[in-house]
Formats: sequence, C-alpha cells, structure tokens
Amino acid sequence: MCFLVSIAKTALKTPSVCCAATSPGSPGRRKESVLVWGMSRQERPSLNRRTYDSVVDSTTSQQLGADLIERAQALGFACAGIASVEPSDYAQGLERWLSAGMHGSMAWMENYTDVRTDPGKLIEHAKAILVVGDVYASRDDNQDPPIEIGRGKIARYARGKDYHKLMKKRLMKLADSLREHYPDASFKVFVDTAPVPERELAQRAGIGWVGKHTLIIHPTLGSYMFIGGIVMTLDATAPNEQPIITDHCGSCTACIDACPTDAITDHRVDARKCISYLTIEHREPIDEQLQSQMGDWIYGCDICQEVCPHNSPKANEQIGQATNAAYLSERASFDLLEVIGWDEEARRAAFVGSAMKRAKLDMMQRNARIVAKNQGLNIE
Ligand code: SF4
Ligand code: SF4
Repeated sequence: MCFLVSIAKTALKTPSVCCAATSPGSPGRRKESVLVWGMSRQERPSLNRRTYDSVVDSTTSQQLGADLIERAQALGFACAGIASVEPSDYAQGLERWLSAGMHGSMAWMENYTDVRTDPGKLIEHAKAILVVGDVYASRDDNQDPPIEIGRGKIARYARGKDYHKLMKKRLMKLADSLREHYPDASFKVFVDTAPVPERELAQRAGIGWVGKHTLIIHPTLGSYMFIGGIVMTLDATAPNEQPIITDHCGSCTACIDACPTDAITDHRVDARKCISYLTIEHREPIDEQLQSQMGDWIYGCDICQEVCPHNSPKANEQIGQATNAAYLSERASFDLLEVIGWDEEARRAAFVGSAMKRAKLDMMQRNARIVAKNQGLNIE
C-alpha cells in the first residue's frame, strides 16, 4: 500500500478528479473563502488548559469538529479539517482509470473499490473523518541546485524520516485519547494504510484542492504535503470556520507541459508513464523511450510540483508555517556507483528510517544505470 504514499506526493495512481469548485459540504452554511487554514504554532490556541471533558461536554457536532481540529493542530499538524463520509464524487473516474489500465502493475488498486469510492465503509457506522496534513518541504526550498554528475535524485517526500511512522504516532495518540472518553466509539487511523480517497477527503476537509497533477494543493502551503486521518463513529461536522476551497488551477497547464513523459492530462495521471511509478513500483525493465525521459531521477519525481506556481518560492515567514522539522532532508540524492554496488544489506541500511521501502535492490540498480546513461556515463 506504500505506493499510495507516493501517490500523495508523486501524482500517480490517481483517478480522474474534477475541479474543486464542487467541494461538498453546506455552502449556504459555511463561508467560501481562500483561507489560511494552517495556522502558525504561535497562532494556535493553547490546549494545555483544556481537557477532553470539553469534548465530552460539547453540545454540537460542530463544536466537536472544531475541538478535533484544534487537537490535531496541537499535535503539530500543519492543517486539519473534518470531512463528511459521503461517497466519492469520482467513482466513475476511478473506474475509467482502472479500466484503461492506467494503474499499470498496481493490481492492488483494483481491490477495495467499495471503500475507495465510499470511505465511510472503512468502519461500521462511520460518521466523520478527521483529515490532517503535514508539510514535508518548504516552498522556499522548491528548487534544487543542479545535480552532480554521478548522482541520482530522490523525490522530496522521501528525503527525510518516514512519514508513515511520524504521522501515525500522533494520530494514534489522538485516537487513543478519544477512545478513553468515548469507549463506545470506533476510530481507524490511516496514513497510506487504508484504501480511502485521501486527496478527495483533504479537499472536503478544507485543506486544499486537487490540482491538475492530481495532488492536493493548500492555497498557501503548496503541495508538498502528506495526508492522513482518522475515520470515526463520532458525530463531528465541519465548524463554520472551515473553508470550502475552490480550484485555483484556472488556465494554468504548467505541470502538464513540464511532465517529461506526458503522463498528465487534466486531473489524470497515467501511472504507466509516470517516473514515480516507474522508479518505485514498476519491477520490469523500463521502456527505452521512457528511460531517456527519466533524467536524473533515481527514486520518484517532483517535476510537476516544482513547476506549480502554488509552490513558487515563498519564505516560511510569509506563509506562517515551517516544514515539519522531522522531514528535513537527510539525503537528496544517491551516488550511482554506490547503488550499483549495493547488496541487499546495503540497500536496507541506506533506506533505514526513510519512507523509501518499495524499490527493491534490482529496481534501484536498474534506475541507477538509467540515470548514469542519461548523464552520459559509461559504467558497465
Ligand atoms: S512530472 Fe510527470 S513523471 Fe514526474 S511525478 Fe509528475 S506526473 Fe509523474
Ligand atoms: S501547475 Fe498549474 S495546473 Fe498544475 S497543479 Fe499547479 S496550478 Fe494546477
């Protein structure tokens, strides 16, 4: 299921998604706005003085929703919101994407389509979904210096610590606390670990809109964001302050134009052509024509995010939210010769603590050889 991960950050296996102008919710009740839903830590209300009794005493589902959001932010998430458990608006798009074979060899995408198209089915009697976002790369750090010849680039989401562990730990802590106070309620945490339509849920939760490259884009924080959440039987609803975010792609086609393999059409990514899929998921030899388009990427690809105007460099002070320090880059590239010389133990050692788990030894060595060839190196 790990590749869903890279989906969230590499624009892959995505069903066709239409413009966010159709954000579900209750437009008459909630004010449409282009918010800054990610408050800086300084701006966040202190929760130290609050106890879960305040949740127990909440008289409305909106208050409960607001309380859950505050608690998520207090745990360090950059943004949070409440999504309804309605069926997906994109069930037909998913069906078309799968029947066109755009998921490539990710056969597991064909499983659990009932939950993928109706996330409330993840647990019995689900009533709400708390959705959270963690920023893993800053807009101010959107351009890499030119790569040194002999090295292969790693996508930003995989440069720091493993977000599965980091996000899950905080979400489990929140779910455990809620369980104590709501022993009859059920909670199911997900961070790429459940077949739910995470980006659509993030859109419903007022975190951002789904861009033409199929990734969630927060209006100020950009798209370098991990998504996770908790499906629950508690009756929480979006508070009035939770925004409804409309599509801000407009007439822009920067990601479509920049994708080296033409994998993106409007709100749809053909995984079979996507460098993220090819380098991380695809176990067979890579088509010659696509090899030359892979450029310097040895693990994943960030091009469609790098060119997005909503990721254009902007100092953290301007957007009021720094990257979560846990994701600071530990390694942005690999030495190609080193990778080619790895044995299984060396691969494991290089991946330890990171989210890079999916690419097997032979895949990494295949990728390294392709990058070397693209750089004009003769390494055989
Ligand atoms: S630019 Fe193209 S190849 Fe790269 S991650 Fe985006 S869709 Fe995939
Ligand atoms: S590059 Fe342009 S079209 Fe693509 S996601 Fe960003 S704003 Fe939307």
